[in-house]
Amino acid sequence: MTKSFRQSDFEAYLDEALPPEQMARIEKALRKDRKLIEQVTAIQQRRNAGVHSLGEIWRRGRLSCPSREQLGSFLLGALPEEAADYITFHLELVGCRYCQANLSDLESQQAESHEVVQTRRRKYFQSSAGYLRRRE
Ligand SMILES: [Zn+2]
Repeated sequence: MTKSFRQSDFEAYLDEALPPEQMARIEKALRKDRKLIEQVTAIQQRRNAGVHSLGEIWRRGRLSCPSREQLGSFLLGALPEEAADYITFHLELVGCRYCQANLSDLESQQAESHEVVQTRRRKYFQSSAGYLRRRE
């Protein structure tokens, strides 16, 4: 196997997700090396059979990761059902660690801001109550 290519390069090649010069570099290498062709064919077959490595699923999942705004709306239950379903799928079945981390970060942020609002409200009531009492 040629040292200059990694498995992920071939996967990107099959997705046609590489810059043109790199696509050309791989194609050229493929023409010269039967071992490489076998390797890429194996990747292709595995893909067609629907067997993906976890890493592959993750990388593919990343491409369709919801935005941080979408995750925020998801937490607030403000997304249309279809979008919410997709995010649930993405988080639980795909198990995207990137989005899970993002989500728990947002969760703690929202919990925090909720607390801030509550505290502010409490302070407001306390002060106005104090104010009203003073006026009596
Ligand atoms: Zn994700």
